[in-house]
Amino acid sequence: MPMDAGVIIVGGGQGGFQAAASLREEGYAGPVTLVGAEPVSPYQRPPLSKGFLTGKTPQAQLPLRPDAFYEERGIEWLAGERVTGIDRVARRVTLASGARRAYDHLVLATGAVPRMPRSPGAELEGVQALRTLADAQLLKQRLGQAHRVVVVGAGFIGLEIAVASRELGLEVEVVEFAQRALQRSVSADAAAFLSVALQARGVRFHFSTGAEAFLGEAGRVCAVQTHRGDVLPADVVVIGVGVEPDDALARESGLSVQGGVLVDDYLLTSDPAISALGDCARFPAADGAPPIRIESVQNAVDQARCIAARVVGRPVRYRKVAWFWSDQGQNRLQIAGVADPADASVLRGSIADGKFSVLRFRGDRLTAIESVNSAADHMAARKLLAAGIAVTPEQAADASVKLASLVAMAA
Ligand SMILES: Cc1cc2nc3c(=O)[nH]c(=O)nc-3n(C[C@H](O)[C@H](O)[C@H](O)COP(=O)(O)OP(=O)(O)OC[C@H]3O[C@@H](n4cnc5c(N)ncnc54)[C@H](O)[C@@H]3O)c2cc1C
Repeated sequence: MPMDAGVIIVGGGQGGFQAAASLREEGYAGPVTLVGAEPVSPYQRPPLSKGFLTGKTPQAQLPLRPDAFYEERGIEWLAGERVTGIDRVARRVTLASGARRAYDHLVLATGAVPRMPRSPGAELEGVQALRTLADAQLLKQRLGQAHRVVVVGAGFIGLEIAVASRELGLEVEVVEFAQRALQRSVSADAAAFLSVALQARGVRFHFSTGAEAFLGEAGRVCAVQTHRGDVLPADVVVIGVGVEPDDALARESGLSVQGGVLVDDYLLTSDPAISALGDCARFPAADGAPPIRIESVQNAVDQARCIAARVVGRPVRYRKVAWFWSDQGQNRLQIAGVADPADASVLRGSIADGKFSVLRFRGDRLTAIESVNSAADHMAARKLLAAGIAVTPEQAADASVKLASLVAMAA
């Protein structure tokens, strides 16, 4: 690949940062430009719904690298700048400031944007989602002045915010459309354990109902009315009903987009001069299932590394085992692999002891392992899935059979 214009990375989040850093680690010598719409250097998002809200993680600990890193590595970092258009024929992007920049290769790492409800009152002050540092700063300030918070959506981020809010001493209600927490992403066993733990900490759940309307007084939210007709008083309402991939730029420039920017096994879009990664990208599933999109730090980081290696001439198919974690107060959930909600569940360990794993199977194929406070199972799970080692439901259920020993036996 010629190295005159270099690589432009759109999005200075987890994946965009990693793409820039990995290009240099891989020895790429051309210009690298990282364009980020947020006005701050790339930072970690996971603490935003956890320690940052409670004050345990100060803002100073959020940046992925000190500011000097970018200059030292010869990475041009354009903070608070947005790519507004792509001229694919001329291989040039337009920036919000009006400048134009040429590229040899373009990486789309635009992430995702929170889904917001259309219910009446959603625009009231005090109703917000949590995606960026600016959102987290606002939420932290609001929680500091609030007594009652309603979280709409019992997904990972919603539950983490619920825990943090309880730690801050607030009254917390969670409204969830599904019949249980974490319906899309986690087995019933693991979800039940985590919600019971939250209930024990004082979080109140309202399942099988949604936010019908947000009620306000003088422009500020004061309650959430549920579909069932309950009125839940609230000083702050946090919307945690998922995100949409930020694929507008790709769509406008004529790239193939279908609920995310479509990429091939090498993370190339329908234009061979443009790659996409992380939350905004939909990539082929290893098992031939429809393309998937994964929202996790691991996915963004590993895809960025894969792209950087290809740019320097070492192409490899993207075939990493997906893994993820969520801290729910004292409990840590770790997931390796990707399960379908319909996949069967086999429990190992003791829910009563608060240390267990749930192995998910599609037919006789292991698809994912969810581990609650069981880090050893999680680490072994990643190896089992990476090596495609067969596990029987009987082995899965028998806690005396260490998962790591199955890895060792297959080696
Ligand atoms: C509160 C919170 C908690 C989380 N907790 C966990 C966790 O515990 N574990 C885990 O694995 N994952 C967690 N995640 C998910 C994880 O942070 C994301 O999957 C990851 O950040 C995705 O990286 P990305 O680079 O694809 O997108 P992002 O990190 O979202 O970065 C995208 C960036 O692109 C910028 N951008 C968009 N369009 C443009 C444009 N046109 N021009 C310039 N810039 C643009 C955006 O402003 C944004 O800064 C959490 C996410 C959030 C929000």
